Amino acid sequence: MRVRFWGVRGSVPWAVPNAIGHGCNTPCIELLDERSGAILILDAGSGIVGVNPAAVSPTPRPISLLLTHYHWDHLQGLPFFATLYQPGWDLTIHTPALAAHDPSWLDTVFKSPFFPVPYQHLPNRPRVNLIRPGELDIPGFEVTALPLNHPGGALAYRIRGVTGDFVYATDHEFGDPEYDEPLADFARGAAAMALDAHFTPQELPQHRGWGHSDWRQCAQFAAANDIGGLWLFHHKPGRSDEELVRIRADARRIFAATETASEGEALQL
Ligand SMILES: [Zn+2]
Ligand SMILES: [Zn+2]
Repeated sequence: MRVRFWGVRGSVPWAVPNAIGHGCNTPCIELLDERSGAILILDAGSGIVGVNPAAVSPTPRPISLLLTHYHWDHLQGLPFFATLYQPGWDLTIHTPALAAHDPSWLDTVFKSPFFPVPYQHLPNRPRVNLIRPGELDIPGFEVTALPLNHPGGALAYRIRGVTGDFVYATDHEFGDPEYDEPLADFARGAAAMALDAHFTPQELPQHRGWGHSDWRQCAQFAAANDIGGLWLFHHKPGRSDEELVRIRADARRIFAATETASEGEALQL
C-alpha cells in the first residue's frame, strides 16, 4: 500500500513562501493498493485538487473518499475533485454519522451561490455511504473507525497495509481520557501514524477546546504506544518550514521516528 500526502495543513490553505516546502494545502491523503488498484482518499481538503486517478490509469478503478468530519478544511477541495467530472469512475463518498452531521451537506456544498454546478448535474455523481465507528465496508481496504475529541465530532481511521497499518488521527484534542484511552488501544503498534500537531506546547493553553493538540503530545503518544513512525500533521497555517524543522528536531528528542508531514511525501506499507 502506498500512502501519499497531498495536503498537510490545518484550517485554511493560506500559501506563504516560507511555508511552501511542507506545503499549504489542507488535509488530503491518497492510499493506493497496488495489488487491486483500489484507491482510498482520506479527506477532501484543498490537497485533493492534485489527485487525478484518470491521469495515471487509463481504466477506471473503484475510488473511495473517506471523510473525517465536515469542517471546511476537510471539504473545501471537494467541488474541484477531478473524478466528479469523469463519467465511468466508480466513486463512493463515505460520510461519518456525527452529532453535527446534516444529511443535506453535500447538496449545500455544490449549491448556488457557493458553486456553479449543482450536485444533481455533476457528470460523475458519487454514491454516498453513511458510516459509523467500527469496521467499515470499503472496497479493497480493511478500515476501522474511532471517535476523536473535536468540536462536532470527527473520526480516526486505521487502515491495514501489507507490512503494517496506517492510522490517520487528525483533528483531535488530547486531554480527555474518554477519548485518549480508546485512541491508544486503537493505534497501538501501527507502522505509521499521522497525528494532529496544530499547536506548539506554548500556544496550546490559549486554545483549549479548539479540538487540536501540540507536537509534544503527539510525540509522547507515539512513544507510549509502540508506533513505528509518527507524521506530525495539520500544521497551523503560516507555520514556516524553519519552525517545522525545529519542531521536528525537538519532537525527535521524545520520539526519534518523527517526521513533519509534507506535500508530495509518500510511504510504503
Ligand atoms: Zn481540520
Ligand atoms: Zn476540524
